[in-house]
Amino acid sequence: MSDCLFCKIAAGEIPSAKVYEDDAVLAFRDINHQAPTHILVIPKEHIADSAAQITPENSAAVARCFEAVARVAAQEGLSDGFRVITNSGAAAGQTVPHLHFHILAGCEMAEKLI
Ligand code: AMP
Ligand code: ZN
Repeated sequence: MSDCLFCKIAAGEIPSAKVYEDDAVLAFRDINHQAPTHILVIPKEHIADSAAQITPENSAAVARCFEAVARVAAQEGLSDGFRVITNSGAAAGQTVPHLHFHILAGCEMAEKLI
């Protein structure tokens, strides 16, 4: 999508602190990190605005994102554990409508929602 921030990052039109990239997925550091390690994993293609739009037709890209999550976790040495979050919709706090997964690690996550 032409007017999408993460599509522009995926296309290299807006710079990002890249952590991992393959043909389908890009992972980069969140500009406003909420934990010592805070990485966003996105499908390069704008397959969905959020998790609410995942379908049998586009879910292969979601699997690719989670393969990337495992790779990034290993690469970043997150052997103590990490959390993966996706916000879907404004009420959940989503601010960028391009499907993405937050990897959070490196601090105590005792105050758990789930
Ligand atoms: P969400 O609020 O779940 O939609 O997540 C969007 C995330 O994108 C937020 O955590 C922002 O800090 C992050 N973000 C926004 N712009 C950029 C950018 N240019 N580079 C890296 N992260 C960004
Ligand atoms: Zn997009």
